Amino acid sequence: MSEIATENICPLCNRVLAEPTSRHHLLPLSKGGRDTPTILLHKICQTKVHAVFTETELKNYYNTVERLQEHDEIAKFIKWVSKKDPEFYDGSIKKK
Ligand SMILES: [Zn+2]
Repeated sequence: MSEIATENICPLCNRVLAEPTSRHHLLPLSKGGRDTPTILLHKICQTKVHAVFTETELKNYYNTVERLQEHDEIAKFIKWVSKKDPEFYDGSIKKK
């Protein structure tokens, strides 16, 4: 099991982690991601990832934090969320 050591920082937005958080499978569970590396993200960050990408896209390409961060919509989201409190969660983001 390889896990990010600095679990107090969200690897997607690089803000301090605070509840609610959500464990993200870099390889989606539905695509064979069981027992594969996971990262702990803010719930809003994880929800955003699933709002932008389908599980097939996540499996086929967006399976590293670096690739997620390179996507325009995620880059915009990171810029936006960086001004929010670590506890901020927006329930209006819909999963794809
Ligand atoms: Zn985050």
